[in-house]
Amino acid sequence: MVYHNSIKLAECFYCYLWQGQGNNCNTILLPSILRGERPHVLIDPGHIKNELGEPCFESLTQAMEKNGFRMEEVGLLIGTHCHPDHIEAAELVVKKSAALFTLSREENEFYGTAGKMFFQMFGAEQPQVNPSFYLKEGDLFLGSGGNKVAIKVLLTPGHSPGSISLYLEDEKILVSGDVVFAGSIGRTDFPGGDLPLLRKSIDKLSQLDVEYLVPGHSTEMGSIVAGKDKVKQNFYTVKMFI
Ligand SMILES: [Zn+2]
Repeated sequence: MVYHNSIKLAECFYCYLWQGQGNNCNTILLPSILRGERPHVLIDPGHIKNELGEPCFESLTQAMEKNGFRMEEVGLLIGTHCHPDHIEAAELVVKKSAALFTLSREENEFYGTAGKMFFQMFGAEQPQVNPSFYLKEGDLFLGSGGNKVAIKVLLTPGHSPGSISLYLEDEKILVSGDVVFAGSIGRTDFPGGDLPLLRKSIDKLSQLDVEYLVPGHSTEMGSIVAGKDKVKQNFYTVKMFI
């Protein structure tokens, strides 16, 4: 059973939108951009199984295979933040593919301290993965030749202390993790949450020129916010909550 709906926004950008009943995040795949046998970049692999027992990781694996992409071919795994519904499956991905794993230094520190509580709260095992390097604010260039992807890494704390958002400049796609959603904002009542920081982060993201806002979860208002005007309107609306 596949619970992910795959949407291709650009040659280098596939969204796997979670459609199950229980909780899980949306996953992003940047296919075929790295050199070598494991050319795919995966962002937020999500749960292995969620609170309703839905096989999230199996579903993601199958959804990717339908598009011709294998989990074994992932060379780099990025976590926007370390909540279980975003990175529980990280260890499985790394076991299957020997992919490098990365997140921000701030988030990794949180992962090793208060972040552990989340996994206990969710009844999940904390994945044993060590970052190969840290992502910090600035430019990240992946791939080479015609398959180059320019990403701006933005530190956007508030939902979690080291949350990052990823902005693909050429495609004008913003991967916002759990900072901002369609018609909503990330929770700050979890350990490590901070509303004033989230407000600043949302302000920062709202300055970008965005054609597609791709959030970490869907809401009743939708999943991907498409079109510059709609994205602007969405930032305007969510800023009223904070
Ligand atoms: Zn989260």
